[in-house]
Amino acid sequence: MNAPQKTTMNANLFSRLFDDLDNPARLAIEMLDGTRISYGDLIGEAGRIANVLVASGVKPGDRVAAQTDKSVPGLVLYLATVRAGAVYLPLNTAYTLNELEYFLTDAEPSLVVCDPSKAEGIAAIATKINAHVMTLGADGKGSLTEAAAKAKPEFTTVARANDDLAAILYTSGTTGRSKGAMLTHDNLASNSFSLVDTWRFTDKDVLIHALPIYHTHGLFVASNVTLFARASMIFLPKFDPETIIKLMARATVMMGVPTFYTRLLQSPALNKESTAHMRLFISGSAPLLADTHREWSARTGFAILERYGMTETNMNTSNPYDGDRVPGAVGRALPGVSVRVTDPETGKEIARDTIGMIEVKGPNVFKGYWRMPEKTKAEFRDDGFFITGDLGKIDADDYVHILGRGKDLVISGGFNVYPKEIESEIDAMPGVIESAVIGVPHADFGEGVTAVVVCTKDAKVDEASVLKALDGRLAKFKMPKRVFVVDELPRNAMGKVQKNILRDTYSKIYAKN
Ligand code: AMP
Repeated sequence: MNAPQKTTMNANLFSRLFDDLDNPARLAIEMLDGTRISYGDLIGEAGRIANVLVASGVKPGDRVAAQTDKSVPGLVLYLATVRAGAVYLPLNTAYTLNELEYFLTDAEPSLVVCDPSKAEGIAAIATKINAHVMTLGADGKGSLTEAAAKAKPEFTTVARANDDLAAILYTSGTTGRSKGAMLTHDNLASNSFSLVDTWRFTDKDVLIHALPIYHTHGLFVASNVTLFARASMIFLPKFDPETIIKLMARATVMMGVPTFYTRLLQSPALNKESTAHMRLFISGSAPLLADTHREWSARTGFAILERYGMTETNMNTSNPYDGDRVPGAVGRALPGVSVRVTDPETGKEIARDTIGMIEVKGPNVFKGYWRMPEKTKAEFRDDGFFITGDLGKIDADDYVHILGRGKDLVISGGFNVYPKEIESEIDAMPGVIESAVIGVPHADFGEGVTAVVVCTKDAKVDEASVLKALDGRLAKFKMPKRVFVVDELPRNAMGKVQKNILRDTYSKIYAKN
């Protein structure tokens, strides 16, 4: 299913976003300092930056890498790159120069835009690949915007085909090297169209945008959906619970990672009154605890809508707008997307409610990994399904349930142990906030099931009480061999629990002396 082409034959995402704009004065973005940017302004600014890109030698198909703090010019740089027919390559602001060296030499961009403080270090890498360097600071200042101020706003959007690349996003790569996921104009456009429909976005919507824009969630899901719907967004440099609760009085939708929701729940200001103007709360990028879902409903009257996606595929499934938003489930396949569960070994589809590998196919699914044809081949089935690496099941109502990454599966004494099953049992204990179950090397069992648990301050939860609560509820081979109570779990910026860090921390606990 290709997304509609609207009035233009140009499949460039920028054309599909803006060619039929009827009211340039309509508000697109507002900021906390009162700055308001209309759709017309946004298009003009994208024209100026596109002219700067071309003047710096960026040609269609070239990569433009950006490691910048979140800012409106940063978002405009994405739109301008796509408009110029080039390929946008956002980089996590946390990456060090050492890490950047890999991304830049792998992607070979012709232009790198970075914070002024990093320009010197990046210039040294850029020389090796013949790239230009321009700067853009968190305050919007730098050589990029200086040049843009002098450039013309008019720019003819470069013609692109559905299958041409619009962006490369590197996966977070907790095992092995990070891979560049190649996303086409149609991957991005088709997914945004589906989401606008599924989530009933209209030009009356006001989105609270507090996500980073180097990741698919904040960059594509939040920004593209808002712009396609002609809605507006309140663009926040970072997540701050009290600011967000105040903004809910005039916003309608928030997209967040689960940690946004757990942190907002800690504020006494979150209640039915403070959320009364809102229409929809969406969560994704990491599993939302069923307890958080329930607590949110009790406090605000809203059932959080959880959806499931990944860098390589955009969004795959969503709980329904109307109908049951089931805690702990990620909903049904989006229109045009096929989801199936297979036996990881044979690739054969398996029965409902049976746990296996989640595979997806559709216009949302990326074209492959940048300069890794073998890796790409290995992760697609012959019939075009992408092997997501997520384990899960599909229930009788077609809702998908995710049980964790395949690489997090624990194999103890030859038996498969699905961490989520044990985590759900532990999470149900009074006083437990959340838990993570990992496998760590064990001389007898191969891997020893190990639980790391976070409790409320006054809870009397310890190793013995967890083991006692699980006794009789779980088969012996699933029982944790050790339980550790900690203050918090390590998470990345998207709220994902970093099980690789936990595995490192506890790697020696079963070692024989
Ligand atoms: P990323 O490529 O950084 O967006 O990470 C994608 C991965 O995040 C997926 O493969 C899932 O493992 C996980 N993920 C995304 N959304 C959800 C969700 N709603 N529930 C559970 N896991 C999720």
